[in-house]
Amino acid sequence: MEKVKVLIIGSGPAGYTAALYAARANLEPTMIEGGFVAGNQSVLPGGQLMITTEVENYPGFPEGIQGPELMSKLRGQAERFGTRIVHGFVTAADLSKRPFAVSVEGTPAFEAESLIVATGAVAKLLEIPGERALMGHGVSACATCDGAFFRGKRVVVAGGGDTAIEEATFLTRFASSVTIVHRRDKLRASKVMQARAEKNPKISFIWDTVVEACLGNKPETPGAAGGLEALQLKNIKTGETTTVPCDGFFVAIGHKPNTEVFAGQLELLETGYIKVRPGSTYTNVAGVFACGDVQDPVYRQAVTAAGSGCMAAIDAERWLEAQDAA
Ligand code: NDP
Repeated sequence: MEKVKVLIIGSGPAGYTAALYAARANLEPTMIEGGFVAGNQSVLPGGQLMITTEVENYPGFPEGIQGPELMSKLRGQAERFGTRIVHGFVTAADLSKRPFAVSVEGTPAFEAESLIVATGAVAKLLEIPGERALMGHGVSACATCDGAFFRGKRVVVAGGGDTAIEEATFLTRFASSVTIVHRRDKLRASKVMQARAEKNPKISFIWDTVVEACLGNKPETPGAAGGLEALQLKNIKTGETTTVPCDGFFVAIGHKPNTEVFAGQLELLETGYIKVRPGSTYTNVAGVFACGDVQDPVYRQAVTAAGSGCMAAIDAERWLEAQDAA
């Protein structure tokens, strides 16, 4: 097993930013980039932005930037200062004693004095035909990220929780109409958010209905014609199937933080996100820090992930210094 001072697990904006700061602090960080498997499709390392097209809200890119290009820039910047990037999936982590033992793909690989967990969260998808193919081409799982592309367009949101209502309400700033499709006849969302949505003239509801397929064609090249054209819906009470034309479809059925390998070791919030000491990235295990979406049920933005990645590197640096001094 190789000994490292700082081991970063995860290669989204939080992981790369933590790596950049740790590298510039001469901590010689090692980062494990795993990529992720979304449904039956394996995605390159770089996190959620690898399945996004245009990113317009990451500061510093006034013209916008493609998600994968942004991640490649963050990676390059982390490498420039000496981050070592290792490819593989972390399959086990023993946080019961220091140094922490981390296995990659079944093989004990690292002994880490400190650990930065930046494993992210994945938006749950419906896993229906067309959904993945049209992701970034009319289908999205993040209204804050992609809402502005649907100015004056017809949009559908799937889900009945707070996320769905919040996303639908946000989308009314841009879209001409927002239809919420929910599989039951009652929302799960908080009463206050429901009331706000019900009063909004742009929002309408289709109850007891599931989305069965996303219809359209993936453009041959970025920017070429094509994309989502309609959704196939099914009323689960009557069995009736309809086709609803639309320009945008937002899947808002919840997120799942990637915490499996830390189960029973890191304290989690009720929602499954890693619990950190407020205003810091400290977890319940001394020497283990969490940043990015895996500890953020609220903001879930690339820029907030990057910000908390910086915090994690600084927290780890100061914690390591305190250990050396002790
Ligand atoms: P939730 O788990 O609360 O809601 C998920 C919704 O998606 C439910 O309505 C569920 O239906 C529906 N759903 C799940 N799977 C499927 C499926 N396969 N097909 C169709 N529909 C499906 O997740 P949220 O992300 O909405 O919220 C997570 C947590 O974050 C909650 O505690 C929420 O309160 C909080 N939150 C708070 C916000 C705020 O206060 N501003 C904003 C966003 C989230 P069903 O109801 O039938 O189970």
